[in-house]
Amino acid sequence: MTQLRYNISAFVGCPPCKKWANKDPTKQTDEYLEWYVQHEEHCMDNHMGSSAAMEAEGTSVLYHRSVEELGVCYNPRIADGDSKSHDRINREQPYGPDHPVKKEECVGHVQKRCGTNLINLTNKWKGM
Ligand SMILES: [Zn+2]
Repeated sequence: MTQLRYNISAFVGCPPCKKWANKDPTKQTDEYLEWYVQHEEHCMDNHMGSSAAMEAEGTSVLYHRSVEELGVCYNPRIADGDSKSHDRINREQPYGPDHPVKKEECVGHVQKRCGTNLINLTNKWKGM
């Protein structure tokens, strides 16, 4: 639970900005720019970039402050198969070069990937 609380506090989306992103993905119209000038000082969005970049950034923040704030090391890391966050942690070595963070796959994600592949194979060979 503690990890989830800290993770949420690391990056916050901004509902009004999300609403605009759906309405006007280019964000180049006069209407949007006029709205944003008024909104900017109240904006809660603190991350620019892809969701994958946000996950890697959030993971980095969590690992770098875990010892100081909680007195714990997150090791091994239970991952979802996406290696970008883990690659970044390995590169940054938040616990020092003598304490590499090991990666273990989340069994739920492995099960989902296996299930999807089995369904695809079943569909491919259907009628043969
Ligand atoms: Zn905003």
